[in-house]
Amino acid sequence: FDQMPTLGDIARFHARERPEAVALSFEGRDTSFRQFDRNTNKVANALIASGVKKGERVAYVGKNSDQYFELLFGAAKMGGVTLPIGWRLAPAEMAYIIQDGQGSLLFVGPEVAEQAKAALSELENPPQVIFMETDGPDGFAGWRDGQTDADPDIDIPPDNVALQLYTSGTTGRPKGAMLSHDNLLGGRREAAEADLPWNQWGPDDVSLVAMPVGHIGGTGWGIVGLYNGAKGIVAREFDPFRVLDFIEKDGASKMFMVPAALQIVVRQPNARNVDYSRLKYILYGASPIPLDLLRECMEVFGCGFCQQYGMTETCGTIVYLPPEDHDPNGNQRMRAAGIPMPGVEIRIEDSEGNVLPPNTVGEVVTRSRANMKGYWNLDEATRSTIAEDGWLHTGDAGYLDEDGYLYIHDRVKDMIISGGENIYPAEVENAVYGHPDVAEVAIIGVPDDKWGEAAKAVVALKPGARPDADSILSFARSRIAGFKAPKSVDFVEALPRNASGKILKKDLRAPYWQGKDRAVN
Ligand code: ATP
Ligand code: MG
Repeated sequence: FDQMPTLGDIARFHARERPEAVALSFEGRDTSFRQFDRNTNKVANALIASGVKKGERVAYVGKNSDQYFELLFGAAKMGGVTLPIGWRLAPAEMAYIIQDGQGSLLFVGPEVAEQAKAALSELENPPQVIFMETDGPDGFAGWRDGQTDADPDIDIPPDNVALQLYTSGTTGRPKGAMLSHDNLLGGRREAAEADLPWNQWGPDDVSLVAMPVGHIGGTGWGIVGLYNGAKGIVAREFDPFRVLDFIEKDGASKMFMVPAALQIVVRQPNARNVDYSRLKYILYGASPIPLDLLRECMEVFGCGFCQQYGMTETCGTIVYLPPEDHDPNGNQRMRAAGIPMPGVEIRIEDSEGNVLPPNTVGEVVTRSRANMKGYWNLDEATRSTIAEDGWLHTGDAGYLDEDGYLYIHDRVKDMIISGGENIYPAEVENAVYGHPDVAEVAIIGVPDDKWGEAAKAVVALKPGARPDADSILSFARSRIAGFKAPKSVDFVEALPRNASGKILKKDLRAPYWQGKDRAVN
C-alpha cells in the first residue's frame, strides 16, 4: 500500500500486480486494471492536449459510469482536479456549481445532456463540453482515444487536491470540499494496515457502487474498491431490483448504501427469496438509520453490517460501528455510530470550544489526515469549520461513552429546544418509526407559544394505511418521555430528500417559520 500515495498510483500498482483482473464493470463493459491504467493515461494526455493545467478543475455531471472513474483517475495523473456535480440538481443549481468551480472543461453524461445545456446557457463563459458514451469528436471515447496510452509521468505531490466534492446541501448551499490525494488515501492506508475484518479485501471481492458519484458515498466508495484492487460494479443509478441482481448474479460482496436506499431494497417483493451467500458486508451510513429498519435488514440480508459515520469534508468514514456490535436483541451499542477509524481523533466540544467529558452532548469535532484542505472559495466558512490546530467541526451533536463509542444525536441545526429541554429528532424518529403504519418520518421543530418550539412529526404512511394523528402521537408517547414526544402530525406522500437520501428538514420547517427566528440556526 506504500506504493499508492496518489490516485494515479492506484491504477499503476494494480496494473502491475493484477493486470488481467477486472477493475470496473459497467453494463456489460469490463475494464481490466491494465486497460484502466492505459485509459487513464490517455485521459491525462487528452486533458493536457485540451489545455488543462495542473491544479485546474474539470467538472463532471452525469449518472455513474466507468468513464467517470477514468476521468477522475486520469485527471489525477496530470494534476487536475475532478469536480463531480449531482445529476439530480436543477439547471440553476448545476450552473451555480459549474460557475463556482471555474472549470475549463465539462464532461456530461447522456442522461443529463438537456439539463446541462440549460445550465450552460445561464453562463457567460461556458466551458468546453465533452459528452460521455457518445461517438464522434465531442464524445469521451473519441477524445480519449486520440491520445497515446503512455504514462505522462508527471510528479504529483500527495498534498495536491484531486477531488473537489460538494457537500449534499442539506443545511444550506453545497460547499466544495477540496480533498487531496493524501486526504483520500492516507486514512485508507492506515485502515488497510489495521486489522479490521470488514475492511479486508481479497481477490474475490466485488464491490457495488450504487450511490451517486456526485456524493462521497459514490465517489469515495468507488475509490475504496479500486484502492483495494477489487472488481467494482458501477450501477448507473440506484435501482433496487438491479441491486438484488448484482448480489445474486454478479456476486457483489461489499456495498455501501444509505438507509433510505436500504429500506427500498429490503422491501422489494422478492427480497426474501434472493441468494445472499456471496454478500459479505453491507456498509451503511450518511444519515441516521431507524433501529427497526436495521434489524429488518440484518434479518433479510443475513450478512455482516457496519455503520459508517463521516462527511464530505472528511472524505467519508471517520467512525465505524463494527459488525460484532450489531446485536439484533437491541443492546445499547446498536444505537452508536461507532468508534474512530485508525488515525482518527474524535472529541466533543461545547459551543465555547471546551472539551466535554464522556456522556455529555456537544458538537462532534475530529482531526485526521482525511480532513479536507478547505472549502473552495469560502475562506470564512473554512476558518469557522477547521480550527488552526486541525480540529474540524462537524455540525453534528453527539456524545462519546466511556468506551469511546460515538453516539450521533443529530445535526446541531436540527436540534429542537422545547421549554429549555433539548430534543434530538433522531431519537423521536426512532420511536415513531416503530408504528406499524409509518413508512417514513421526520421530526422537526415548529414554533410553539408555550414551549418556544415543539416537535412535529411529518409522516409518510405505508400504502393503504389510514391511522389518525392521535394513534401516532399516543404511540410515540408510549415509547419516549412526554416532553420529547411530538405534539402534532402532518401527513405527506413522501418526505423531501436530496440525492444523498437525506431528509431536507429545512424545507419541511420553512413554512412554519416564515418571519420568525429559530433559536438554533
Ligand atoms: P451540507 O453540509 O451541505 O448541509 P450534508 O452535511 O448533508 O450537507 P454530507 O457531507 O453528504 O453533506 O453529509 C455529512 C453529514 O451526514 C454528517 O455531518 C451527518 O450529519 C450525516 N451523517 C453521516 N453519517 C451518519 C451516520 N452514520 N449517522 C447519522 N448521520 C450521519
Ligand atoms: Mg455538512
